[in-house]
Amino acid sequence: MAGPAILAPSGLQALLDVLRARGYRVLGPQVRDGAIVLAELADAAALPVGVGDAQAPGRYRLRDGEPDRVFGFATTAQSPKAVLFPPDELLWRGRRTADGFSIEPVAPADEPDHRPVAVLGVRGCDVAAIGIHDRVLLGRAHVDAHYAARREEAFLVAVTCSAPGGTCFCASVGTGPRPRAGSDLVLTELTEPHRFLVEATTAAGEAVLAELPTAPATADDLAAADALVEAATAQMGRSLRTDDLHELLPASAESPRWAAIAERCLACTNCTAVCPTCFCTGVEDASDLTGDLDERHRVWDSCFSLPYSYIHGGAVRTWTASRYRQWLTHKLASWQDQFGTSGCVGCGRCITWCPAGIDLTAEVATIRELAEAHDAVAAASDGDVLGGHR
Ligand code: SF4
Ligand code: SF4
Repeated sequence: MAGPAILAPSGLQALLDVLRARGYRVLGPQVRDGAIVLAELADAAALPVGVGDAQAPGRYRLRDGEPDRVFGFATTAQSPKAVLFPPDELLWRGRRTADGFSIEPVAPADEPDHRPVAVLGVRGCDVAAIGIHDRVLLGRAHVDAHYAARREEAFLVAVTCSAPGGTCFCASVGTGPRPRAGSDLVLTELTEPHRFLVEATTAAGEAVLAELPTAPATADDLAAADALVEAATAQMGRSLRTDDLHELLPASAESPRWAAIAERCLACTNCTAVCPTCFCTGVEDASDLTGDLDERHRVWDSCFSLPYSYIHGGAVRTWTASRYRQWLTHKLASWQDQFGTSGCVGCGRCITWCPAGIDLTAEVATIRELAEAHDAVAAASDGDVLGGHR
């Protein structure tokens, strides 16, 4: 693998041009409707130069960032999940025929624009989330053919996070701010002078890097990148202690905290929609007015919806408290049994985009405090605690 290289800011356009010449549909961060979102990107001038974001529980605002800095914001409002695992995906069409009906499977290659996708600016948390989707959707007995088709051709340009938001906690869960394995190229934006450290992490990344106007990186460049990572880690808005979650959350199934959360939670499903690792889906069928044509779609679903837990005659999680408990316990604990990893990469989106400002890092800390207080009382009374739960 070629060594790290330095790319001038003007080289970002060269990167876009190389990717487009290789047949990719390139997506990158841009300002749209008061947020930084992923959208098709033809011109580097459309990148959010000098724009930052301010994120807090239930709050997202754009702000002035450092002049000239291209990636001086925390996370895009939506993750690349919607690119590789669309919220609404046509699976097949059925047509009435003279003697019954026929089924036409639909694949990503049948879409009007079926170019492979390249995503520029993927944060470490989102690279890790894609790695989790790879494990869940590609690495088990059933391979998701639609995800596989998109993922195998995708090209990811990750960017080290230099401006973590108030809701970010990737450092404490080990997914950032420097992206780990899973992308093709990693950019680190350095200043004084303004430049990008570029590292290829796959053969595809190395081939693209070879076409860019770069110079070899120096020891000073590498030291500047390390200093940037250290500063970003120190700025991280939140943290999550993870070592005890596998035991803590199942043991806290009767914690009074779930009811307290349910008083604020609207069961709106925002947290699962913005979460880069949530992957639950449902199936919807729709026919045309003649009844001759039917389409089957796979659409995102959420464990916060009432129908999600419908089992033969009724939903089993009718109380919002039971839905939040299901989401958090699965995400942080039983996900480890199921997939060998936590389901949280610390992106903070579920905190930012929760209309009630519910913060999972704070809720976990409170659940832990209640459990420890309960255990302390139990220990003091020789385990003879009447009433109350962890
Ligand atoms: S936790 Fe927040 S985002 Fe999630 S369902 Fe409840 S109100 Fe909506
Ligand atoms: S649970 Fe929240 S912080 Fe964790 S990955 Fe999902 S959206 Fe991000």
